[in-house]
Amino acid sequence: MVRTRFAPSPTGYLHIGGVRTALFNWLFAKRHGGQFILRIDDTDQHRNVEEALAPILHGFRWLGMDWDEGPEVGGPYEPYYQSQRLERYQAAAKQLLESGHAYYDYATPEELDAERQAANAEKRPFQYSRAFMAETDADRAKWEAEGRSAVVRLKMPREGVCAFTDSVRGDVEFQWNKENDHVIQRADGTCLYHLASVVDDYDLKITHVIRAEEHLSNTPRQIFIGQSLGYELPQYAHLPYVAEPGSKRKLSKRKLKDYLKIPEFKRLNDHGAAIAEQINLQTSAETFNPVIVDFYELTGYMPEAVLNYLVLLGWSLDDKTEELTIAEMIENFSLERVTQAPASFDCKKLWAIQDRYMQKMPLKQKTAACLPFLQKAGLVADPAPCEVGPKLTRIIEACGDRLKVLGDIIAYADYFFVADDAMTYDEKAFAKRLGSPEPLALLAKFRETLAAVETWDVPTLDKTMHDFVAAEEIKIGDIIHAVRIGTTGQGVGPGLFDCLDILGKESCLARIDRTLALAAK
Ligand code: GLU
Repeated sequence: MVRTRFAPSPTGYLHIGGVRTALFNWLFAKRHGGQFILRIDDTDQHRNVEEALAPILHGFRWLGMDWDEGPEVGGPYEPYYQSQRLERYQAAAKQLLESGHAYYDYATPEELDAERQAANAEKRPFQYSRAFMAETDADRAKWEAEGRSAVVRLKMPREGVCAFTDSVRGDVEFQWNKENDHVIQRADGTCLYHLASVVDDYDLKITHVIRAEEHLSNTPRQIFIGQSLGYELPQYAHLPYVAEPGSKRKLSKRKLKDYLKIPEFKRLNDHGAAIAEQINLQTSAETFNPVIVDFYELTGYMPEAVLNYLVLLGWSLDDKTEELTIAEMIENFSLERVTQAPASFDCKKLWAIQDRYMQKMPLKQKTAACLPFLQKAGLVADPAPCEVGPKLTRIIEACGDRLKVLGDIIAYADYFFVADDAMTYDEKAFAKRLGSPEPLALLAKFRETLAAVETWDVPTLDKTMHDFVAAEEIKIGDIIHAVRIGTTGQGVGPGLFDCLDILGKESCLARIDRTLALAAK
């Protein structure tokens, strides 16, 4: 039975690189009919765990990544929080002490520091002398009488190699003599992360530890702990890190302003930020930017598109396939096809994949998914009046592939939902297209032509304008922009005749009248 886990620390946000790691674990478990477990690494947690975990669980739910065991769902190996498992770690530390794989160390920080400095001065790697390693109860009593306190350290091997086969990296070797005697338990009795992690992986019967590359260097000490405790080791797989767009630098939680120096990233962010502003979202750089999963939900990406993009970060089906449904990902995922090279967070590709998913989304579903954005922007009441649905469907149809994310609907549809006398204008477009007497005169004339139209539909409106252009001996461009601004306030948008049709005759005439009156001021 395959059992994988993702072990987030409750940080208050779900990082996109973390989700990639979680996704690979999730897919691997699903691929093998196994289980995916969420374990909460809160050993060093000072803030409120529930609160800091909520956005992480929310992100998983939005993405549709369910977990078989863990917070909220429980499971046979409870608790799934490290902070509640201290006794297990203390028991493991005791076992390691008893078997001689760990020792009480009474050195003070100053003494250790002196040793470290001496090693530096002699340009040799630091290796603790074990001068204060208590070998007997008498040693302990003596040092304790001096007022010293002890930490528990691993008694790591000092020769030979730690060799293991990693499912991504292949055969890996570490020299034992490069390892320190790592601390596993503090003087106050609390235990350190690496001990906790190994004990938990064993207790939760994890078969495959699939995690970020940065943990590769922690693996020797974890293997030592596991072997010393007599555990059967899990299979390790260290995933390549996710790099910033266009660089080799790790995509980590840098300050947003640093990320914004990367043009592609900035574009993605600005687009999302504009949507956030329209829905009056109080954003913070901490949780609202493209390295955090929330960003995608709030701006209206599709979870399937985000997962599809993420699966390609370090894994591929073959050399060409870019689009995969979740079922296809599950069916085909394998650790053998995970690359070793860093995977670049490619904003353009993410954008392109989202675009494709958006265009494929059935109209009915798109309507339902866009509606909450209009409601959040205050353009449509909640619950929506029944005429909104068909109208919105028509707007979405008219927008065609202009909608890249669901939140884009606000920019394209706002003028369909505001009162005629509350429509706002793009000032630049207004000045450019209606800033002189000729287009205004043409608009006024065309308004009368429209007033006489009896059948208000796209073909009739189209013909009406073309007839007008012919009769006036003007170019279509001389009138079409003026009418668009007069009825929508914007310089660009979906097909004009669709717009006029959706707005209806009464609104179009009222808006043109208002525009002419404003222009006359
Ligand atoms: N809590 C650790 C992290 O977020 C998990 C490490 C592991 O997967 O072993 O990096």
